[in-house]
Amino acid sequence: MDTSCPRFSVRTFGCQMNKHDAERVAGMLSAAGMHAADEVEQADVIVFLTCCVRENADERLEGQVASLKALKRRRPEVLIAVGGCIGQRDGTELLRALPHVDVVFGTHNLGRLPALLARARESSTPVVEVLGGSDEFTSDLPSEREHRWHAWVPIAVGCDNFCSYCVVPYVRGPERSRHAEDVVEEVRSLVADGVLEVTLLGQNVNSYGRDLYGEPQFARLLGAVAQTGIRRIRFATSHPKDLSEDTIRVMSQTPEVCRALHLPVQSGSDHVLESMNRRYTSSAYLGLVDRLYRAMPDLALSTDIIVGFPGETAEDFEATLDLVRAARFDQAFTFIYSSREGTAAAALGPRVPRDVAQERFDRLVSEVQRQALAKNKALLGSVQAILVEGASKRDATVLAGRSEGNKVVHARAPGDSPDSLAGTFVDVRITEAHTWFLSGELAGGHTGIQAG
Ligand code: SAM
Ligand code: SF4
Repeated sequence: MDTSCPRFSVRTFGCQMNKHDAERVAGMLSAAGMHAADEVEQADVIVFLTCCVRENADERLEGQVASLKALKRRRPEVLIAVGGCIGQRDGTELLRALPHVDVVFGTHNLGRLPALLARARESSTPVVEVLGGSDEFTSDLPSEREHRWHAWVPIAVGCDNFCSYCVVPYVRGPERSRHAEDVVEEVRSLVADGVLEVTLLGQNVNSYGRDLYGEPQFARLLGAVAQTGIRRIRFATSHPKDLSEDTIRVMSQTPEVCRALHLPVQSGSDHVLESMNRRYTSSAYLGLVDRLYRAMPDLALSTDIIVGFPGETAEDFEATLDLVRAARFDQAFTFIYSSREGTAAAALGPRVPRDVAQERFDRLVSEVQRQALAKNKALLGSVQAILVEGASKRDATVLAGRSEGNKVVHARAPGDSPDSLAGTFVDVRITEAHTWFLSGELAGGHTGIQAG
């Protein structure tokens, strides 16, 4: 690497939207002549893309920025930029807790980062720019993808749902969809660039298009994206109240659309769901799950669950465990409720004591693990198409990749080094099921389709 070039480091917290934004920041800074630094200590520009969905993300940011104080003393020319949800929420306020930050930006002006950094370089005071909203989609910005065969594609930003615990509508603004032609055009050019898998992103993909076309058009968009020559389509996140029968049909009939669905339920108690403002009941959720499994018996289903929401009783929590057993999730992201200033739930009570929430959380995780293992065991003996990511972290002779259901799969790679198979599809017969991954052996070589 040319060590005379200025170097950058991008750190992200939180959701997939931030991972996508990180690829755009890397793309913009590379286009401006910078290189990615191997170590944060070597970087001349350090960018944090933040999340404020839960309190621990705030704490992590403060810890990480504070740990750069010594670096800033040694090399005062290093620029630290904080953007994303915390930048949007706090603006200038952020400088009180973190005075050695040079640039604060928000969720609506990622594309302005190079200009803001240039201004900070010239200025002796920090540069803060937070906008109320914008029509900009980050897809117009250059991108440096983490994997050459995978791309994140935003189809909508913002959210109108106002779940009572959630800050996203406040920091990301109202839902705005991208024109379907723009999405399809982007996927087409990604395919031409060797991309095999795209993940369509939105806070609630199922309401995609309502603002543009008067009614949701997600099923139609999926169908159109499937015509581009892309091999695999994933999407996140789906709000259960808006998942349409059309979308289920397109998922079940379109081979390019992965049979993997992230469908956050949050709670199994109707009383908690109502005070969360989720606008469905547990039986409506389970009815939907039933229709999904009938249409796609091999569907991999994942979810998000919050425990310790204000007013959650022991019975409410038992209802959540019952729902987890009935829905047979492949994976669940589990969270202890974190009160966020300005949200409706922040004013609700009674608060669930921390030790009670922790105990519920631990029981929930055990149940989720039991279900995940049972779902993985059901795959024993099956042949799964795996998109190889490279060698497994533990063993350089073992390849690791993802199945259609988004499960990590390991297989020994005789002859070929796993890294040479990265970005190709291989068939793997599953011989071992673990809670969070599967192992197997290559079945019938690989398809030879290589990302460009
Ligand atoms: N729009 C997506 C949805 O509705 O599922 C994702 C929103 S959020 C970034 C991802 C998850 O964080 C939510 O599904 C919820 O489980 C969790 N979450 C959001 N706010 C939270 C809070 N205040 N405390 C704990 N977990 C929270
Ligand atoms: Fe937050 Fe609910 Fe919107 Fe998801 S759907 S981003 S949880 S308000």
